[in-house]
Amino acid sequence: MYDTIIIGSGVSSIFAMLNLHTDQKILTIDSGPDIATRLVKASTSGFAGLGLSEGKYNFSPDLGSHLSSKIGEALVRKYLAEVESILNTFGAKAALTYQSHATNQSDSSIKFLACHTKHLGTVLSKEVYHNIFTYLSDKVDFLFNNAVTNIEKQDGNFRITTSENHVFHAKKVIVATGSKKNAALNKSFANLGLVYQNNRVDIGFRIETLSETFDSLLQNDLEVKMKKANMYSYCMNKNGRVIKRNLHGRVTPEGQNSREETPSKNLNFTLFRPYYFDTEAQMNAYLDSLFDKINQNSDRIIGYPLHSLSSEFESIKKVQSTLAYESDFTANILLDDLLTDTIDFLHCLEQSMQSKIDGNTLLYCYDTKYFGPEIHTNIRFESDVPGLYFIGDCSGVTYSLSHAACSGLYLGEVLN
Ligand SMILES: Cc1cc2nc3c(=O)[nH]c(=O)nc-3n(C[C@H](O)[C@H](O)[C@H](O)COP(=O)(O)OP(=O)(O)OC[C@H]3O[C@@H](n4cnc5c(N)ncnc54)[C@H](O)[C@@H]3O)c2cc1C
Repeated sequence: MYDTIIIGSGVSSIFAMLNLHTDQKILTIDSGPDIATRLVKASTSGFAGLGLSEGKYNFSPDLGSHLSSKIGEALVRKYLAEVESILNTFGAKAALTYQSHATNQSDSSIKFLACHTKHLGTVLSKEVYHNIFTYLSDKVDFLFNNAVTNIEKQDGNFRITTSENHVFHAKKVIVATGSKKNAALNKSFANLGLVYQNNRVDIGFRIETLSETFDSLLQNDLEVKMKKANMYSYCMNKNGRVIKRNLHGRVTPEGQNSREETPSKNLNFTLFRPYYFDTEAQMNAYLDSLFDKINQNSDRIIGYPLHSLSSEFESIKKVQSTLAYESDFTANILLDDLLTDTIDFLHCLEQSMQSKIDGNTLLYCYDTKYFGPEIHTNIRFESDVPGLYFIGDCSGVTYSLSHAACSGLYLGEVLN
């Protein structure tokens, strides 16, 4: 019998393990591989979960979730500072660290947010999480390449079954499975009487233009964080590149920082907008249909020069794309509401910068940000089933590395 079984060994799980007392008997199970395998073979699951992605940690309570509304802003700030300190302890001191400033102009409808950021990149992320695994490996039992397929409650304890037919028992279970859909587990949750409340995915164009366009706004900063109504900017990379990322079978354009390859003359970022669905199945059907048309069963990326979508932007300078794309206007994949909001945002941005955005700016389709469907939990992240907790993105409360990590640290402390 374990004191605690954690399902998933991604970011939130790791920070929970780091904060749980070592006298507890803990087992962590992940459907993906161990860290040694992940160091040599790319994957999005296994030890560190999506922590082995671009590794951009934004230390702001305003970005990355509604965690503050659950545990309060003061606690979020406290845990954000702890997350940074832990990352540094395990080797992240060398990461690109910078501050974006709140340069709000009274006449601008765009809000510019202050944020301290640590951008590890994929190489340093691997090193940091490898160091964390070495530290945790004699304190926690790990089982990899086993998906948890069933959770039952028996006589006040939990019975956990994995895809390889292992069975374990625990007094408490922490679900930390990220935002990926989990058909088998969802059935278990339904059997336990738990109901999902929300299904959200954010979709946005990844935008690439000349870095110099943003000089007046950025000054010496590397990034500005922007918000206007329900649109917000995400993961800006000055002198970076746009790369392909295969996530859950969908190939999307993603930003890469300037230190991973030769710096480019461009800057890229995404402008996201939320989309809500009644059920997860409806959300996935919508995304599958969209990305089938974009990717065409391979890894095709569709992109458009801004002037081809709106004649209001004049083409003046050449913008050399850093990712190959096709401008397929017959694909029927343009989301009208997103396009309208994006163009409106770019016009407001022109006013704030007091300069023009070039018509040769590229809009790649589509960056996506998945939110775990939300299960009701109390302030301790405990669901309506006593002893069953949800943290990280599967709680529906976090959707970023730093906030997923905060939720883990917080629950670790609550359970000690
Ligand atoms: C491509 C990409 C890039 C991103 N880059 C950034 C970024 O730069 N900055 C940022 O702030 N956020 C970023 N995010 C978001 C961020 O990665 C997530 O918010 C964060 O990793 C969530 O942590 P988590 O612990 O909830 O889940 P994850 O880190 O996803 O970990 C979940 C783990 O659970 C395991 N699992 C799932 N189901 C089961 C099961 N049934 N049984 C056993 N194990 C299971 C998975 O294998 C996985 O290892 C990115 C997301 C994506 C998709």
